[in-house]
Amino acid sequence: MLKGTNIHKSFGDLEVLKGIDLEVAPSEVVVLVGVSGSGKSTLLRCFNFLERINEGTIEIDGHLVNPKNDKLSKIRAEVGMVFQHFNLFPHMTVLENVIEAPMIVKKMKKADAITLAKQLLEKVGLSDKADVYPSKLSGGQKQRVAIARSLAMEPKVLLFDEPTSALDPELVGEVLAVMQQLAQEGMTMIVVTHEMKFARNVANRIIMLDEGRIIESADPETFFGNPTHERTRQFIQLVD
Ligand code: ADP
Ligand code: MG
Repeated sequence: MLKGTNIHKSFGDLEVLKGIDLEVAPSEVVVLVGVSGSGKSTLLRCFNFLERINEGTIEIDGHLVNPKNDKLSKIRAEVGMVFQHFNLFPHMTVLENVIEAPMIVKKMKKADAITLAKQLLEKVGLSDKADVYPSKLSGGQKQRVAIARSLAMEPKVLLFDEPTSALDPELVGEVLAVMQQLAQEGMTMIVVTHEMKFARNVANRIIMLDEGRIIESADPETFFGNPTHERTRQFIQLVD
């Protein structure tokens, strides 16, 4: 569904991604881990074309993306992203946040966008918050709106960059539960997270990034039980 080949990304002299090969199958859930600064966010941003790669290729659902010819808005509709800090539009209600992109980018009729948005708000357990402004919501509720907003574009892949890191501990579970439900429904996902219980229970595969390279890629049992790389062992001890 999503395939990166030999992805290189530098910021000036700093080479952050040093040749990443990563293929995510339809309905696969990949959890991406690694210490701060290892390049996790940059890799997600490259897959979403928020960053332009210096070398390599990215394919979405078998289509080789050419950022020169393909419209970025179309690519971003296919590869959704959920951020740590929600990034909701503060001057719009919850419903308006969710219908905005389908109407603007996909030219969906307002009535259809509202129908879709209401379904999605129900899915994330926020039907009763449709007409509320984001400032009235808890962090967990905001993040669930952000997920509904991403889903409104009907993406082929959803990328999550530490979606629960900014939340109070008691609000983490409600967001992870929504993500787990999406995984069970067959959404293809890459999730950067420090929630190792989620990784263990939901991931099909866990990938460890270290200084811009993938040093470990394994199913959760092997990743935690029998990692090949010393850095992976150190990381597991750190987060356990
Ligand atoms: P992670 O998400 O794993 O913590 P990042 O992908 O955010 O890592 O960052 C990897 C490295 O790239 C860090 O050294 C960071 O300072 C650097 N970096 C990230 N974005 C930029 C940018 N826009 N300009 C310059 N350096 C950046
Ligand atoms: Mg990051």
